[in-house]
Amino acid sequence: MMSATSTAPDQRKTSLWVVATPIGNLGDMSTRATQTLQAVDLILCEDTRHSRKLCQASAISTPLKSLHEHNEAQLIAELLQRLQQGEQMALISDAGTPLISDPGYRLVKACHEARLTVAAVPGPCAAIAALSVAGLPSDRFSFQGFLPAKSAARKKRLQGLVHEPATMIFYESPQRLQASVRDMLEVFGDLRLACQCRELTKAFETSNLGTLAELEALLAADPDQSRGEQVLLVAGQPAADREPGITPAVIALHAELCQHLPPRLAAGLLSQHLGVSRNALYALRLAAGRT
Ligand code: SAM
Repeated sequence: MMSATSTAPDQRKTSLWVVATPIGNLGDMSTRATQTLQAVDLILCEDTRHSRKLCQASAISTPLKSLHEHNEAQLIAELLQRLQQGEQMALISDAGTPLISDPGYRLVKACHEARLTVAAVPGPCAAIAALSVAGLPSDRFSFQGFLPAKSAARKKRLQGLVHEPATMIFYESPQRLQASVRDMLEVFGDLRLACQCRELTKAFETSNLGTLAELEALLAADPDQSRGEQVLLVAGQPAADREPGITPAVIALHAELCQHLPPRLAAGLLSQHLGVSRNALYALRLAAGRT
């Protein structure tokens, strides 16, 4: 049910509005986001030049102030004082939902501590948009943000996620996409399902769902797939993967045998010779969509 108080900012004693803005398609700017940004006294944004363009396109003339990772802590005292004097402010980021791999957490926390009201104007978020089109389980997911830039640190982070049962969502730069997929393949195994979503809501929007091995091959064959903004999603560890003896080597052997035998028969043979669960191997094959 829509609340009458949810439409305009001055109807509630909200101090800080956290407002989502488009991730590439200006058509995704909501009416409520525009109205809120028009009505507040100040808009806090990462880059004033970048956000001015959005404001111009939406007839918003509210003053802008830059709040980014490096000045957020210093600005908080001044902002709290102004909010306590009754000013209303909106927090936006360059794109999408503030605080999601973007600044604002310290300010929002400080507002709560000062008993100032914070309210959301929800909207675009690359992680959620990607999850909605990825074709991977969406009942449970974990947002992992950006992985470390260096391979050793990246693999260490990924190793800590090997047993994560929920779909994992990562942000990645175009330059590091291929290297990250290679590390994921090494850590999660080549049959783990993954989806690469690029340029969501834009002209070259693409979603590629497949195993990590297929994704690696696609990126190697078509450099255009690495261009633009990227979200990588990796399926959680299938329950069958946790069965004793079901190692990446056994899974790979099963995949090899499946090229010559029906998957159920191949799983039965491995079960007979290696003592691993036939059902678990077959379920893994099903989960990878390869039967
Ligand atoms: N706060 C933003 C949000 O709500 O999604 C994310 C900000 S984070 C600094 C930027 C990263 O988000 C990009 O490097 C990319 O991984 C992802 N991203 C943003 N826009 C995207 C788009 N249109 N398509 C795919 N990924 C996108």
